[in-house]
Amino acid sequence: MRLVMKFGGTSVGDGKRIKNVANLVRGYAMQGHAIVVATSAMSKVTDMLIGAARRAAESDAPAYIAATRTLLDQHLVAIDDAIQDSVARVALRDQVEHKLNGLLELCNSIAVLGELTPRALDTIASLGERLIVPILAQALREAGARAESIEATELIVTDDNFTSAEPILDATRDKARARLIPLIDADVIPVVTGFIGATRNGILTTLGRGGSDFTGTILGAAIDADEVWIWTDVNGVMTCDPRVVPDAQTIDEIAYAEAAELSYFGAKVIHPKTIVPVAERDIPVLILNTFNPTHPGTRIVRAPRSDARKVKAITTIRKLSLITVEGRGMQGVPGVAAKVFSAVAREGISVLMISQSSSEQNICFVIEADATQRAIVALEKEFELERLRHNIDRIWAQEKIAILAVVGAGMKNTPGIAAKVFGALGDNNLNIISIAQGSSEYNLSLVVDERDADNAMRAIHTSFLVQ
Ligand code: ADP
Ligand code: ASP
Ligand code: MG
Repeated sequence: MRLVMKFGGTSVGDGKRIKNVANLVRGYAMQGHAIVVATSAMSKVTDMLIGAARRAAESDAPAYIAATRTLLDQHLVAIDDAIQDSVARVALRDQVEHKLNGLLELCNSIAVLGELTPRALDTIASLGERLIVPILAQALREAGARAESIEATELIVTDDNFTSAEPILDATRDKARARLIPLIDADVIPVVTGFIGATRNGILTTLGRGGSDFTGTILGAAIDADEVWIWTDVNGVMTCDPRVVPDAQTIDEIAYAEAAELSYFGAKVIHPKTIVPVAERDIPVLILNTFNPTHPGTRIVRAPRSDARKVKAITTIRKLSLITVEGRGMQGVPGVAAKVFSAVAREGISVLMISQSSSEQNICFVIEADATQRAIVALEKEFELERLRHNIDRIWAQEKIAILAVVGAGMKNTPGIAAKVFGALGDNNLNIISIAQGSSEYNLSLVVDERDADNAMRAIHTSFLVQ
């Protein structure tokens, strides 16, 4: 089979793990699979890089210098642990030092300017992936494979929406195939940076946090892979976040639409856009665990085997605010909702969930907590006149709330799911602030107090999914 294998940050988290990945890939190559590897930065590296960039913008030189030192140590230790060949070690050490010197220079410039542009942020955030690929490629060579490290700026063409760039799939297909297919045909394993692309003019962009999963499926679609394997640190897509709900179970098979819904509603296991490039081409995505590689994990496919479970999984998104626009004078007045959402859209604030009570006396919607003040100010301005006339009485935010999403294709047309969800929460004295059903009917979303989110997730999990 032709496979793209993506490895997450914890899977390459230290020298030993890097060697482990190299042996794993080599093992599958020996079985006759043609493999393209995409990898994330070592765990925590991207956070540290973004932190350094922000400190630079505040001219906090000691902080970004310290971060650079930590990153240097982390990568030098990884090289020492993962790589045997002394010549290769020296060369890799030099490369890491050179790239981190570049980071320091960039931070110095940002500190002088006192400004961090999204473009500069991408250049810095992408460094973790650029540091790891030559190390992993050498580890693969030492495991007995042929391998070449490649920066995805050579493969993935995106728009210029820095920090969250959108791939241009046709252009990417041509570029990626031209570079990757000859390597595959020559039995060389390309080891590609996750997370990164470049504009048509060659300026580096990133695909958004957690975007290496997306790299995996973008490349999978481009080279017509038979499957994309996303290797992470849990046994596949699970019924809940296993960090919050310890008895979470692996879902054997799940539909593209369900997996997409789960990731949009906070299941970090895959990036929200991961499914897009492969669903069009019916390429299955497997979620596997490098810490437990014989576990079958999860297969994400168009039509999963029929499953008695109506609810597949429960997820949460935190750090949100619920904005309410309310007033008795709103009733029957056309265009209020349109005004609310255009005011918010003009601010570039995205709305995660909407609900309006049938009495039309209020409109509620959920946004990220960071945008709360901006949204309130924009709405106050938009409805200045209505406020004076008392058609709108109050515009306010309830902060520290979470969305809980109950996801499953089988929920469609199955009566009683909502009742069971509310029953589970009521039995545990957990209050629901607001409710919405996603239009796809794959998802029932609830707003709860952030403090109740974990308990609510456990209560619903126990009532639907514990067998
Ligand atoms: P990687 O670095 O491999 O990309 P991530 O940390 O991005 O890994 O994603 C894996 C993590 O996602 C798991 O460790 C787990 O805590 C979290 N997670 C959240 N929801 C789920 C879920 N429903 N199933 C599996 N993992 C989940
Ligand atoms: N390293 C990037 C991040 O931390 C991309 C990824 O891990 O998928 O967001
Ligand atoms: Mg991830």
